[in-house]
Amino acid sequence: MRPRLWIAIDGPAGSGKSTVARMLARRLGLLHVDTGAMYRALTLKALREGVDLQDEEALVELARRTHITLTPACSGGGVRVFLEGEDVTEAVRSPEVSRSVSLVARVPGVRELMVRWQREMAAQWGGVVMEGRDVGTVILPDAQLKVFLTASPEERARRRQQDLLAQGYRVDLERLVQEISERDRLDRSRPVAPLVPAPDAWVIDSSGLTAEEVVEMITARVLGG
Ligand code: C5P
Repeated sequence: MRPRLWIAIDGPAGSGKSTVARMLARRLGLLHVDTGAMYRALTLKALREGVDLQDEEALVELARRTHITLTPACSGGGVRVFLEGEDVTEAVRSPEVSRSVSLVARVPGVRELMVRWQREMAAQWGGVVMEGRDVGTVILPDAQLKVFLTASPEERARRRQQDLLAQGYRVDLERLVQEISERDRLDRSRPVAPLVPAPDAWVIDSSGLTAEEVVEMITARVLGG
């Protein structure tokens, strides 16, 4: 059993959470849990089945009969997400899923199920770096360290554009700034588990920092006690 060290990393889209969480997990020998990938997998299924994204009951019903698993990443590689056993790690990053995911994630019944699965994972896996929007506030309120990563919308859109380009999607920067701002608005204004820093979170603006620098800062704090 790994030592129970829980590190929560929350923040808006493109703030560098995933890169930082992945590198930090590797550095500290912890497992990386990407909670956003779970909402994305459910969204992918909803889109494939043509479920009306405004129909909350249908989305909860879909979540109840959906099996989503993450394979942990420790040294090397990244987390892989499976939907009914199918590896959808790349598919969940499509622009279509990105545009729709906040509509699915705002449904309270969907969040209830997700939070339950995410807590089970943290309890079973012991040491985790868990990233998302509500890790420090809802999923793991007693995490030993809570980080809230931010960056300006323009910087975040630029990073997202680079990521998408690497995956073969060419998306206009202006459009990405708009999409990211809209996703932020939905994530921040929803009544259940909105995107806000936990009162005891360490807020880091990563605008002028590399992922390595952010990881250094966090590692120093963890190892410094
Ligand atoms: O982190 P990522 O950008 O992949 O998350 C996709 C979406 O999933 C977010 O915009 C948000 O709507 C939702 N999400 C959430 N709670 C989490 C993680 C993600 O609501 N813990």
